[in-house]
Amino acid sequence: MAEAKTRSISFPRYAEYNCAFRYIVEQALDCRYVMPPALTRRTMELGTRYSPDFVCTPFKTILGSMIESLEAGADTLLMTHGLCRLGYYGELAEQILRDLGYQFDFINLSDYDMDKKKEYIRIVRRFNPRVNPARFLAEFMVGLKMVEYLDELTAQYYQNCGFDAMDGAYRRAWQDFLTAMYTAHSRADVENGYRTARRAFQSTRLDKPKRPLRVGIVGEFYTAMDAFSNLEVEQKLADMRVEVHRWMNVTNQFLRYGSGQKNLRVKIRDLCRYDMGPTSTANIWYARECAERGFDGIVHVKSAACTPEIDVMPVLQNISADYKIPVLYLTYDAQTSDVGLMTRLEAFYDMIHMRKKVF
Ligand code: SF4
Repeated sequence: MAEAKTRSISFPRYAEYNCAFRYIVEQALDCRYVMPPALTRRTMELGTRYSPDFVCTPFKTILGSMIESLEAGADTLLMTHGLCRLGYYGELAEQILRDLGYQFDFINLSDYDMDKKKEYIRIVRRFNPRVNPARFLAEFMVGLKMVEYLDELTAQYYQNCGFDAMDGAYRRAWQDFLTAMYTAHSRADVENGYRTARRAFQSTRLDKPKRPLRVGIVGEFYTAMDAFSNLEVEQKLADMRVEVHRWMNVTNQFLRYGSGQKNLRVKIRDLCRYDMGPTSTANIWYARECAERGFDGIVHVKSAACTPEIDVMPVLQNISADYKIPVLYLTYDAQTSDVGLMTRLEAFYDMIHMRKKVF
């Protein structure tokens, strides 16, 4: 097992959240973080080659990313827990990697009871037994703040970037913000990066109609948020001059609304009475929210073989029929192509565009 001080920790690529993982590992845990390479076709090929056929696509992506992290020098892998099959995936990924011959320490959050606070202390001590608790707490909070800023500005970016009247200034501001987060070493760096990006967003001239086309994204946690996995569906819609909204992110799902999910359930009790998966309640609630707020369409994003999100689809069909709002269902697997997606998005765009003119 690797010594605490010299641990080189990695967590699979997940949207842009790896900047916050890096910050927490380096600043709060005082360990080395190995940034997994950006997700590419190679990642998917590796993950697909060594995965069982019928696992959902996020498992393949995560496995491929873990292999690339180990190749990049990681000796400790962290795996999240989950309310669906994700809960078993850590064990499965670890076994596959060991069978392939990799040597590493594996910290699987499914092995801990995450409802108990003292378990968090056990996890932290496993990473680094000599961690300074006061410093850990302070820097961990900065990492969480980074997640909140990331989610806030990501939402702002996709709602506005399609209407940029200044030749890509909005996108440049967004990319500068990401660079600032990936290189931040202190609270001041995080705050400065955030404030600079906000100022840049505010000073970018937008050419937005009074009633732009608005589309809400709902779907499976990993695929809906990870731009590589969903083939940049949000950017593609935004580039068609659509205001793209997505409620689902780490801040809303865990930091703000963790226990509030029960209240979301109250609001949709006429549609479904029980949770059908980790994100079903939030997705159904948000889809109806979009319909009631007069959005022009909803895009449901899920991975192939994702049972919880398949269960959500009939409820979305009811919402679509009740509120007369079109829903586009997108299912991604390792073979999904950019061209196929673009064709469906263009057809969806033409339909909601014409519909808006008529109504
Ligand atoms: S929510 Fe669906 S895609 Fe995501 S890990 Fe669970 S089963 Fe797989």
